[in-house]
Amino acid sequence: MSDIDASRPGEHGQLDRSREFAGKTVLITGAGKGIGRTTAKLLAQRGARVIALSRAADDLNTLKEETGCETLCVDLADAAAALEAARAAQPVDLLVNCAGMVELQPFLDTTVEAFDRTIAVNLRAALIVSQQCARSMIERGVKGAIVNVSSVSAQIGFPLHAAYCASKSGLDGLTRVMAIELGEHGIRVNAVNPTVTMTPMGEKAWSDPAKSGPVLARIPLHRFVQPLEVANTIAYLLSDESSMVNGVSMIVDGGLLVA
Ligand code: NAP
Repeated sequence: MSDIDASRPGEHGQLDRSREFAGKTVLITGAGKGIGRTTAKLLAQRGARVIALSRAADDLNTLKEETGCETLCVDLADAAAALEAARAAQPVDLLVNCAGMVELQPFLDTTVEAFDRTIAVNLRAALIVSQQCARSMIERGVKGAIVNVSSVSAQIGFPLHAAYCASKSGLDGLTRVMAIELGEHGIRVNAVNPTVTMTPMGEKAWSDPAKSGPVLARIPLHRFVQPLEVANTIAYLLSDESSMVNGVSMIVDGGLLVA
């Protein structure tokens, strides 16, 4: 690749952001709320055809009104439904596995049901949806990109988050294997690993200052991450600007992990 391609839109090779993803179809799971919703809006603004997948129909209806995106209403805890929806979404060029859930339970009281549900949504659904998207990309010769929305919880153990931390560590492992096997086909796979983000999920897990305060105190930038800061990182990992980035877990934590 040359240094700067002046034939690209904008002056001196700078990108015209509103056309950055023009001609690309992106499937975003968990697009009803929080990080996924912000990502859907950002990528629509940047010219992508967005297919938003989530569970609550109301969320999808308002997102459709706001962005003109297409929608798929499905519960990803249901493996058969996840497979059917992923097939229905094809052909897609880019995928963001963002759907996630947390059920707070002490380790000793973590139930098999909650553990299985968390793994099903946070990890197994990413496998199922990614397989369908990657197969379609390979068949069409599309050198696409996949971003798995993981968490700093893949690397830090938080109390009450046993199932969640296990699911996110698993997602990072899945990301690395996908990067190796799909890299053979020119498909890049990366994870993005945010710290606490005050979305509906963030409020559920971290609204008590007694819990969030010690985490906040360890972040050198002294704040939690905004959904748009995560969405910007996802957009970077999907874009040609990260054309040689493959298999990483990109930490977005204001320095928490190195402090
Ligand atoms: P959120 O505000 O709760 O939004 C999650 C979205 O995923 C919602 O639209 C939700 O739909 C959807 N979803 C959940 N379970 C689903 C299922 N079974 N089938 C289909 N859709 C489902 O969460 P968020 O904070 O934006 O989190 C997005 C991702 O970032 C998650 O993977 C999360 O683990 C990760 N993350 C979050 C934080 C944080 O502090 N918030 C930090 C690091 C990583 P419903 O509302 O209908 O359930």
